[in-house]
Amino acid sequence: MGSSKGDVERFFDRSPDLLAIADRRGYFTCLNPEWEAVLGWSLEELSAEPFLNFVHPEDVERTCQEIARATGPNPCTTRYENRFRTRDGVWRWLLWSARWDGTEWSAVAKDITTRKELERHTLHDALTGVANRALATDRLDAAIARLGRSAGAAVALLVDVDDLTTINDTHGHVGGDIVLRAIADRLTERLRAADTVGRFGGDRFLVVAEGLADGGAHGVEAVIERVHGAFARPIPTRHGLVTVTGSVGVAVARQPDVDAEDLIRDADVALRRAKSLGRGHAEVFDAALAEEVKHRLELAAQLRGALQRGELRVVFQPLVSMADGTTMGCEALLRWNHPDRGLLAPGAFLRIAEDDGLIVPIGAWVLEESCRQLAAWRAQGRDLWVSVNVSARQLGQVDFVAVVERALRETGVPASSICLEVTETAVLRRPDVAREVLLALRRLGIRVALDDFGLGYSSLTHLKALPVDVVKVDRSFVADLVDSTQDRAVVEAVLTLASRMGLTVIAEGVETVGQDELLREMGCPVVQGYLYGRPVPAAEVVLPDLDADADRDDDLAAEAVG
Ligand code: C2E
Ligand code: CA
Ligand code: CA
Repeated sequence: MGSSKGDVERFFDRSPDLLAIADRRGYFTCLNPEWEAVLGWSLEELSAEPFLNFVHPEDVERTCQEIARATGPNPCTTRYENRFRTRDGVWRWLLWSARWDGTEWSAVAKDITTRKELERHTLHDALTGVANRALATDRLDAAIARLGRSAGAAVALLVDVDDLTTINDTHGHVGGDIVLRAIADRLTERLRAADTVGRFGGDRFLVVAEGLADGGAHGVEAVIERVHGAFARPIPTRHGLVTVTGSVGVAVARQPDVDAEDLIRDADVALRRAKSLGRGHAEVFDAALAEEVKHRLELAAQLRGALQRGELRVVFQPLVSMADGTTMGCEALLRWNHPDRGLLAPGAFLRIAEDDGLIVPIGAWVLEESCRQLAAWRAQGRDLWVSVNVSARQLGQVDFVAVVERALRETGVPASSICLEVTETAVLRRPDVAREVLLALRRLGIRVALDDFGLGYSSLTHLKALPVDVVKVDRSFVADLVDSTQDRAVVEAVLTLASRMGLTVIAEGVETVGQDELLREMGCPVVQGYLYGRPVPAAEVVLPDLDADADRDDDLAAEAVG
C-alpha cells in the first residue's frame, strides 16, 4: 500500500491551503497552484525574489523575528500573521505555520483576510480606522502581561486634541473629523508597528508602546516626543489649514502587577495635570501625582461632611468708597475650618468642590449665610450691600434663580443689597444659559459683577453683551499699577469704558498707598484690598459708625482698657 507519488502531487495541487517550501536565503523553491489563485502572481514571479519583498513593510520586522526564533537554538514551528501583496496591489492577510528542518522551510499559510476585515469592523474606530477602546485596552493588557518576560517598560499615553470643540465650531464637524483622522494617521505613522493607537471616543486617543528603555531613542521621552510630533504640522481642511495642539498624559508600567484600567486612570490624572498647564503639554504620572490624587480624594471626602459638621465659615472683606472712605459693602469669602489643617482659603479646596459638584450646596449655603449676616447688619441700622461669589457650576443649575429667591425671602433682605460675582470664564462655559440666568437675577433687582476682569482675552467684547452692573478689575492689574504703564492703561481703559456704560468699577487687591493714590487719581470709585481690611469674621468688620456719640464712648472705653 502506501501513498504513491501521484497522491502526494494531487494533494499538493488541490490543497485549499497555501503550501510552500523555502530555502535558507528566503526564496520559495516550491509552491502549490493555490498561491496563484489567492495572490494573482504566477508561481515563477513569486519564486524570483526573496519572499520578504512581498510582505507588507509594517510586517517585515515581526516576520524576521519569527524566522529568527524558529531557526534559533530551539527550532520550533512558528505561527504568525502577515500581509502579502497581491498582483493588484492590495494586501491579503496570511496566517502562517512554518517549520525549519535545518536546510529548508516547510510552510502552510491560510488566507484570513475576510476574518481580519470582520475583526477590523468590530474592533476599530469607524471614523479613524485605529483600534477602538476595547481593542486598545486589550493591547495594553497584553503589553502589561508581557512585562515580566520581556525587557523594558510599557507605557499608556492618553492624547487629547486641545480645543476640538472650537475646531468643530469654526470648521464644522467635517473639519473636526478631518483633524481626528489626520492625527490618528500621523500617530500611527510615527509610532512603531508593534505599538497601538486607539481612539477612546471624542477627542481622545490611547497610545500603547512597550519594550521601552530608560532613555534614548526607545525611551518614554522619545515616545512622548513622537506623539507631540503628530501635532507639529498644520492640518489641511476644506476651510484652510488648522493648527492643533495635543495634551499628553503618560503612565508607565514596569511590572506585570498593574491593571490596564488603573494605568489608564493614572494617565488620565497626568493628562488633567498637563491640561492645567495650558495646551500642548505632557505630564508623566509619578509618585508626587499619586500623592496629590490621594490628598485630593481625602480632602473631597472630608469636604462632603464639612457643611453638616459646621466647619465652613464666611468671612467678609470691606468694599470701600474712594469718595469718603466708608465701607459701602462687603465681599463674602468662603473659609473651611479644617479639623487638622486649620483655616483653609478657597485656593486649597474650591477646585475639588467644583469638580465634585459640592460647590452647589456649599454655594447656596454661602448665599444664605451672607443674607443672614446682611439682615443682622440691617437690623443694627447699617445700610450695606454684600457681594457673593457664584461658580460656573451654580450658574448652570436650572434652579439657581429659585435658590437666590429663597435666600432673599427667608432672610427678608432686599434684592438690591445683594451683588452676585461671576467670572467671565464661568459665563463663557455656557453663554446662552448664563445670560438668561443673569437677566432673571437682574429682574429680581439683584446686581451682577463681572469678577477678575481683564484676565479673559475678550473681556471688553463681553462687557457689552452681558447684563452686568459692576466690573471688578483683577488684582494682577492693581499689583503692577505703579510700575507698569501697560497695566495702568488697561485700568484706565476699563474705567473710561465702564463710566460710559454706567457701570461701577471696583479695583481689587489694593495693598499700598501708592496703588491707592493712583486709583484715586484715575477716578476709581470703589476699592478692596488689604490696605483697607482683610477678610474677617462678620463681628470684626470695621463699619461706619452709627452715630458720633457711640464713637466717643467707644474711644473712651478703649482708652480705659489701654
Ligand atoms: P476673588 O473673588 O477674586 O476674591 C478676592 C480674593 O482676593 C480673596 O481671596 C481675598 O482674600 C483676596 N484679596 C483681597 N484683598 C487682597 C489684597 O490686598 N492682596 C491680596 N494678595 N489678596 C487680596 P480668597 O478669600 O482666598 O478667595 C479666593 C477666590 O476663591 C475668590 O477670588 C473667589 O474666586 C473664590 N471664592 C471665595 N469664596 C467663594 C464662594 O463662596 N463661592 C465661590 N464660588 N467662590 C469663592
Ligand atoms: Ca469675587
Ligand atoms: Ca476677583
